Amino acid sequence: MAIKVDQTKCIGCGMCVGLCPDTFKLNSVGRSEVISQDNKDCASQAAQNCPVLAISVE
Ligand code: SF4
Repeated sequence: MAIKVDQTKCIGCGMCVGLCPDTFKLNSVGRSEVISQDNKDCASQAAQNCPVLAISVE
């Protein structure tokens, strides 16, 4: 099981960071990066709400 963000899809809307601040952060180019693999439940919720489906939890 790993949380991943597809950097080619992320549009930097910030939704996942707002929902799971301990899991995602926006990087220097304004895209979401995974900073912790600890909260897969929150990441799954973020994945379902990401407007461009850039988050995968697998
Ligand atoms: S919700 Fe999706 S598009 Fe928005 S910042 Fe997170 S990964 Fe990027």
